[in-house]
Amino acid sequence: MQVLHYPDPILKLECKPISTVNQELRDLISAMFQTMYESNGVGLAANQVGYPIQLFVMNQTGEAEKNDEELAIINPVILRRKGKYIDQEGCLSFPKIYAEVSRAESIEVEAVLTDGSVQRFQWNGRQARIAQHEIDHLKGISFVDRLSDDVLQEVQEELDDMRVNYAIDRRLGLVRSAENTKKFLAEIEKKFCE
Ligand code: ZN
Repeated sequence: MQVLHYPDPILKLECKPISTVNQELRDLISAMFQTMYESNGVGLAANQVGYPIQLFVMNQTGEAEKNDEELAIINPVILRRKGKYIDQEGCLSFPKIYAEVSRAESIEVEAVLTDGSVQRFQWNGRQARIAQHEIDHLKGISFVDRLSDDVLQEVQEELDDMRVNYAIDRRLGLVRSAENTKKFLAEIEKKFCE
């Protein structure tokens, strides 16, 4: 699986709720965990690998061996937020950018799990930060959209470079064409959201 980089338009899409948990979805989740570990990430949203559906995976340790920390979260809703703190964040869709982002210190989330059950989670600190970052992705929001003006200015050059590189990839045909993307997205929707 390839992680999409900014400014791929799929990262801006509002992800669709998932209607059925099936083997195909479980296979997608396994592939996402593998991609996340290979990229040294602690969280990955489905739209980052081209599937704009409401799913993300996380493991706050980032270590594949610690699989009891793995969570695959479907259709998450944040019910409550408490406190605020600023910390450094990175994102697999922005490989070279690290920046300080303000997030709630703790959150309560309701979500569906792969066994179809609906569960509530209380997350604090790092886990709450990862979850907020990933839930933002599912709304088409990237962490750079959350930066203060000063911090944004610091990373602006890096963002400009990424836009240029994306334009080059596009010209070289390394990025899926708009027409093929449309077809692919319609297939995904049919598979997971109808
Ligand atoms: Zn991210």
